[in-house]
Amino acid sequence: MKSIEQIAAELPGYDPKALPAHQVNAFLAQLVQPVTETERVGVFAALGRVLARDVISPISVPPHDNSAMDGFAFNSAALKPGQPLRLRVVGTAYAGAKWTGPVSPGECLKIMTGAVLPTGLDTVVPLEFVTAEGDTIELPAGVVKTGANRRLLGEDLMAGQPALQRGQRLGPAALGLIASLGLAEVEVFRRIRVAYFSTGNEILSLGEAPREGAVFDSNRYTVYGLLTRLGVEVVDMGVVKDEPAALEATFRQAAQSADAIITSGGVSMGEADHTKTMMKQLGDVVFWRIAMRPGRPMAVGRITENSKSAVLLGLPGNPVAVMVTFLAFVRPALLRLMGCTDAQPALLQAHSSEPLRKKPGRTEYQRGLVTRDAQGRLQVCTTGNQGSGVLSSMVQANGLIVLHHNQGNVAVGDVVDVMVFDGVI
Ligand code: AMP
Ligand code: MG
Repeated sequence: MKSIEQIAAELPGYDPKALPAHQVNAFLAQLVQPVTETERVGVFAALGRVLARDVISPISVPPHDNSAMDGFAFNSAALKPGQPLRLRVVGTAYAGAKWTGPVSPGECLKIMTGAVLPTGLDTVVPLEFVTAEGDTIELPAGVVKTGANRRLLGEDLMAGQPALQRGQRLGPAALGLIASLGLAEVEVFRRIRVAYFSTGNEILSLGEAPREGAVFDSNRYTVYGLLTRLGVEVVDMGVVKDEPAALEATFRQAAQSADAIITSGGVSMGEADHTKTMMKQLGDVVFWRIAMRPGRPMAVGRITENSKSAVLLGLPGNPVAVMVTFLAFVRPALLRLMGCTDAQPALLQAHSSEPLRKKPGRTEYQRGLVTRDAQGRLQVCTTGNQGSGVLSSMVQANGLIVLHHNQGNVAVGDVVDVMVFDGVI
């Protein structure tokens, strides 16, 4: 295994004091290797898990040509351009009960949605398009084309073809698709465990009496939320005082029980505390100042305890900086660790409804609210005070406006990238 310093030194133009944000991702992509252990789980339990093996379709879906509508099935050879068509109804085909009788020229079959189309019948006219008289129906000219309302065998999935790929995170649609193949179980990567704790002598746990100069710990709660949404197993290690013994014990325990350790606080350059010292002492760690705002300081590396190694992601202390560094770096790294092949966040583009000041040479993340303007175009505005400790503007946001490293000022109407939070589109 390469040392942390080796991996870092190979980054082009590596500067630990002003590291461009994309280099952090490039570094983490090398540091973090996907877990290898897999397990078989039932379909319900597979939600949010990452597929460890391609799912090859054992059957074709749908398994037979069938009707997409309630209507009348017939052979399209009978259709004459510009002419109505009269057909005699010889029976009814219901979903789940195959109709086996003959349907001769001049005849049709009443058919329900999902019912198997008997051989020779290739077109379905919906009920509402025909007029019926006794056992005869009449289609006006031009209401259907050949092949209309026919779902083809295998049009969703063909037997023997890959239906889902290894490395894919399974969402609701994937669960349905797996079930549609008749599969009761799938093979997924094991869940990863992530331990997290907050550091700092000024940090109060909930329930503690407020005291001057102290603030309640919010980072453990945002990190908990972010991790839980990722579907990882969380190990909450509380608030750890800036004391060598407490820090050492916590780091050792975390390294032994988790695949990754996330800390907040105590990693900035000026810190006169023990957190950095302990990280250095127990692990193989680099300390960076990232060319970004908010969230400059970060510690990254590996801590090994009893031959069990955990990735260390030491985040800054400021509450918004924690969320931003998590979304920009930690989340893609953890997805990779989980075995996911597509780990980068989705960016959408929106027109800025205000001018934004931006200096080239660092990546800036502004809290944004994406809405639609009167023309239906996506627009984005910032959500007030952008201070790195101000969570209220984070709460109002539904995404982060990403102003890239080389980007300069943004004028009203300019298109900007937005990293959207859940449920925006
Ligand atoms: P640090 O990175 O340790 O210098 O912390 C930067 C700022 O974030 C300081 O104002 C800290 O008080 C604050 N901070 C650090 N950890 C937390 C936390 N867990 N919850 C809320 N604020 C925090
Ligand atoms: Mg501190």
